Amino acid sequence: MSRSVLVTGGNRGIGLATARALAAQGDKVAVTYRTGEPPEGLFGVRCDITDAESVRRAVEEARIQHGPLQVLVSNAGITRDELLVAMDESDFRAVVETNLLAAVGVVKEVVPDMIKARWGRIVLVSSVSSLAGAPGQTNYAASKAGLIGFGRSLALEVGRRNVTVNIVTPGLIETDMVKEVTGPRRDHLLSQTSLFRAGQPEEVAGVIRFLASDDASYVTAGVIPVTGGLGVGH
Ligand code: NDP
Repeated sequence: MSRSVLVTGGNRGIGLATARALAAQGDKVAVTYRTGEPPEGLFGVRCDITDAESVRRAVEEARIQHGPLQVLVSNAGITRDELLVAMDESDFRAVVETNLLAAVGVVKEVVPDMIKARWGRIVLVSSVSSLAGAPGQTNYAASKAGLIGFGRSLALEVGRRNVTVNIVTPGLIETDMVKEVTGPRRDHLLSQTSLFRAGQPEEVAGVIRFLASDDASYVTAGVIPVTGGLGVGH
């Protein structure tokens, strides 16, 4: 397999694990990184996904390096947790701006390549919070729920062109993002999983790799939990 792949937020966490999993099977992977250096062994394109010009440039760089985009993993995201009553409006806006509007901007930049080629795979990284809700995450849950409606509608628009769009909803995954989820809050979340543990980024990457593969050719508009059972039933 040697497809042209773009992973946003591919410099650490779930994005990096996904980029490595796809590169290991022979894909030509470009990752966006906003800060620091690109990860070793992967083609990095500097990009702030909230900046439309930066996205346009990054996608073009990936195209020039590896050819028209065939697989997109829209993974970059942020949290700014706070109870709604205490949350600054700017924190609500920033989370929706990054997790929903910027993700839409990246998809819009990439999907014409797939429509033209009549083949493509898009995987959007949402969250179990989008379905189950989570206190302190009204902004995050709203942004990630928006991705589900967006992704499913897009799947209906591009299915005829053999482009699939799926959404993964991870639970508690061990990355920088959840470093501050400690103590009773972490224990509570773990007690709600069926597997009684947090997940590893590689366990999300494996599901994304499947959704991007030929084996998933009849899977689209799906919402796939990778939660260890957290939020079961949603
Ligand atoms: P990390 O905090 O480890 O990584 C977040 C990534 O997103 C980084 O690569 C970061 O880049 C990138 N990013 C954030 N904002 C921007 C931006 N404006 N432009 C470009 N890149 C940006 O988090 P995870 O790996 O845990 O999260 C990956 C995805 O998975 C997110 O969408 C998150 O919401 C989702 N998720 C995570 C869960 C978890 O438990 N970890 C659970 C459910 C969903 P940089 O390094 O440059 O800041």
